[in-house]
Amino acid sequence: MGKIIYNCLCTDISSEGKGVVKNGKDIIFCDGLFPSEKADIEIMYHRAGVYFGKVNKLHNLSEDRIQPKCKICTSCGGCQYQQLSYSAQLKYKTKRVKEALTRIAHIDAKVLPCLGMDNPYNYRNKIQVPFNKDRNGKVKFGFYKENSHIIMPIKECAIEDQRAAPILWDIKLLLEEMNIPCYNEDSGKGILRYVLIRTSHHYKELMVVLVTTQLNFPGQRNFVNELVNRHPEITTVVENVNSRHTNVILGNQEKTLYGSGHIKDDILGLTFEISASSFFQVNPVQVETLYTCALNLIDFSKKEVVLDAYSGVGTIGLIAARNAKKVISVEINKSAHKNAIENAKRNNVDNIEFVCDDAGKFISNYDKEIDVLIMDPPRSGSDETFLSTVMNKKIKKIVYISCNPETLARDIGYLSSMYELHYVKPVDMFPMTAHVETVACLRLKE
Ligand code: SAH
Repeated sequence: MGKIIYNCLCTDISSEGKGVVKNGKDIIFCDGLFPSEKADIEIMYHRAGVYFGKVNKLHNLSEDRIQPKCKICTSCGGCQYQQLSYSAQLKYKTKRVKEALTRIAHIDAKVLPCLGMDNPYNYRNKIQVPFNKDRNGKVKFGFYKENSHIIMPIKECAIEDQRAAPILWDIKLLLEEMNIPCYNEDSGKGILRYVLIRTSHHYKELMVVLVTTQLNFPGQRNFVNELVNRHPEITTVVENVNSRHTNVILGNQEKTLYGSGHIKDDILGLTFEISASSFFQVNPVQVETLYTCALNLIDFSKKEVVLDAYSGVGTIGLIAARNAKKVISVEINKSAHKNAIENAKRNNVDNIEFVCDDAGKFISNYDKEIDVLIMDPPRSGSDETFLSTVMNKKIKKIVYISCNPETLARDIGYLSSMYELHYVKPVDMFPMTAHVETVACLRLKE
């Protein structure tokens, strides 16, 4: 057992959703502890000058605490905020964005309250779980315990689409009945590694992906027939082969075992095809809120040339194209770029051009006028090549969508010599977790 520090007062929440305690000169990050709560904390480990601990004894409860829906939320690590009331979650997300802008960009910005969901549960349209066998030979599935490869069995998950759990339970039963072995990480033997389920929000479509170690495993046809018999809501089953000893879930080889191999879903009236490995926003309700919020910031007049940088499968650019003169979408990932072209064809959008390149490299070689920039970079944010070229080009308006308040603040700080920040609004794409998505708008100073 680690050392216990008694009577610690939690004063804040870290960006990872852990309680922050100041103990003399030391900082302790503690799971499941919230501001205003006092606890005895057991120190688990020390990394980069910070202590990490867990609650040994809790002395008082924050008034923001609620009973979580999920029993394992304290150990699974997926839902850092499930023990907080939804209004408190939104309050802390707003605060995090405000503080990042003050601390990193030195801007005292007005941050609008984080926009939440009416029903913040069961929103995830992509569910992936590892399968394994316990000591008694029973198949188990669930989530890895935080920072480990120990599977914690789950009945159902509070943030995932409710259609997933009954299918996972029947897969477990079928594996046992048909004696299909699950993958063993230590020996590298066995067949089924993960099951991935993707659901459509707007259509009655649902995809099951079986991630296996070998193509055409014995009993495959019976297994798939029986599964779709028991669950007619499954519209397609795909096998994905991943035989490598790795933490990456999907491999490169794929075979459709049932149905078309993809599902479709809509965002703001456009239809997108989703395959086993496509990138697609995981919260189908809030993605519409997020995009509406971002696109409302552009007073479209059908005359604008819009650059959609870090465009993924082209979703936001395709929606923007309806009201712009032209959109240029830049994405570095080849398969996302290919999907984006198909998505444009499917939706008959022809005033959009797709470029597969590094956004910074592309913009520094692009010599035509750009009126509006929409940028949605990954967690690491943008880079100096990209941002300095934006400044050289004097693009009038920037709509920045970010999934990381700290890199957003860094990039806004960099732009602030030439740009004025006039709108910041977090949108809750990931209720129950500490993740924060933000829409910001910057205008070129006169
Ligand atoms: N705008 C999209 C996707 C955002 S995710 C949506 O709303 O769905 C960020 C995207 O940036 C990813 O698709 C990633 O592949 C891409 N990306 C990462 N680094 C990049 C770079 N240097 N240049 C261009 N695209 C990049």
